[in-house]
Amino acid sequence: MGWQDYLDREQERFVAELKDFVRIPSVSAKPENIPDVMRAAEWVRDRLTAAGAEHAEVLPTAGHPVVCADWLHAGADKPTILIYGHFDVQPAEPFELWSSPPFEPEVRDGKLWGRGASDDKGGMFIPILAAEAMLKTSGRLPVNVRFFFEGQEEIGSPDLPPFVAANTDRLTADMIFSSDGLQWAPGMPQLVLGLKGLVSLEIILRGPRGDQHSGLYGGGIANPAMALAQVLASLKSTDGTITVEGFYDDVIPLSDADRAAIARVPYDEAEFLAETGAPAPFGEPGYTTRERLWARPTLDVNGLTSGWQGAGTKTVHPAEARAKITCRLVAAQSPEKIFEAIRAHVEAHLPPGVTAEVARLPGRADPFLVPAGHNASATAAAVLEEVYGTAPFQTRVGGSIPVMTTLLDTLGVHAVMFGFSHGDENLHAPDEFFRLDAFRTGQTAYCRLMERLGSG
Ligand SMILES: [Zn+2]
Repeated sequence: MGWQDYLDREQERFVAELKDFVRIPSVSAKPENIPDVMRAAEWVRDRLTAAGAEHAEVLPTAGHPVVCADWLHAGADKPTILIYGHFDVQPAEPFELWSSPPFEPEVRDGKLWGRGASDDKGGMFIPILAAEAMLKTSGRLPVNVRFFFEGQEEIGSPDLPPFVAANTDRLTADMIFSSDGLQWAPGMPQLVLGLKGLVSLEIILRGPRGDQHSGLYGGGIANPAMALAQVLASLKSTDGTITVEGFYDDVIPLSDADRAAIARVPYDEAEFLAETGAPAPFGEPGYTTRERLWARPTLDVNGLTSGWQGAGTKTVHPAEARAKITCRLVAAQSPEKIFEAIRAHVEAHLPPGVTAEVARLPGRADPFLVPAGHNASATAAAVLEEVYGTAPFQTRVGGSIPVMTTLLDTLGVHAVMFGFSHGDENLHAPDEFFRLDAFRTGQTAYCRLMERLGSG
């Protein structure tokens, strides 16, 4: 029997096991669920062992545990791949908005409903089952495989960077695949090639010691609120180009091939505007809206505070004015360099009569971009095309996924997102579900991925 037949024969059992997994309320954000996150880790460890993986272990961090396992008998001439995923889930509140209880999973309409079914319990179970099918039918895998599953992704993986740095011997690999990922739509695969980085800061302009009477002092001293408006206006031209000196210096320009790949992805401007209610698209000239969303850096004011904001009039001359700002960065911009560029810009464009403080705020991420010609991505694309019968869209995401940059920084490998969830599956919301046909497709895809990587 081949792995395909094994997967077909065992599918009912796999779905029943996924339900057992979803029944564990491994909510990493809630202290009362700490024992449940541990229970989920132990479930994963035992399931890896049952699949035929070796050295399956629950390992401690300063917070929730991780689970590692491996199967390293394919031979030194075969690549070693690391498969990542997470067994913690988002809180399920508000419970009353669920059609069936979040931790009592149910199958309805070919979907498994329950918290974590899609993000990422169904996703991370897929490569375990693919490995099991190959090990139980042929006694071996075509490549060397390491498994690395964590229990704190939904709270930002705070203890992961030190764990990865201290355990490189368990994690070193030629390629990394993340099971925590989305396909574009049912039947339409995608390969996510880029994620944006982030830098967060606050500009604080100060004038008089305290708020003053605008009739007694107005006209005699500078107004920090007006000065802040002038400083903010100097950060961008009216057409949307960021005018901070050096801001774009490290941006890797879009190639013609990049732009063609982005243009191939379905895009409906009316639908895009309807999502936000904005009257018109706006942004840096010379780029399509989608290019700006995915592949160009941004600078946004997130909040503005100064003076009197209550009802009616107060004739106040404010003492200070503040603006919170975040920039979404693209490869190869550095959050630290961009912060310094903005600080220097504010100092250079400060109107007279006020002082400026530019402070970093929490919230930092490096951008991520899979380099052109990346071997693991090319293989993943070929497998997706084979399994779906259509070439994957090459997409990017405006947000960031910290674990992708942690793995890149420490292990020096660009992880490829190879997951089989979809954006409409109510991830992080009530009525989360996972499509069982994608669960099955993913198992085939991981088997073919290992076969392709092992035959090279
Ligand atoms: Zn996830």
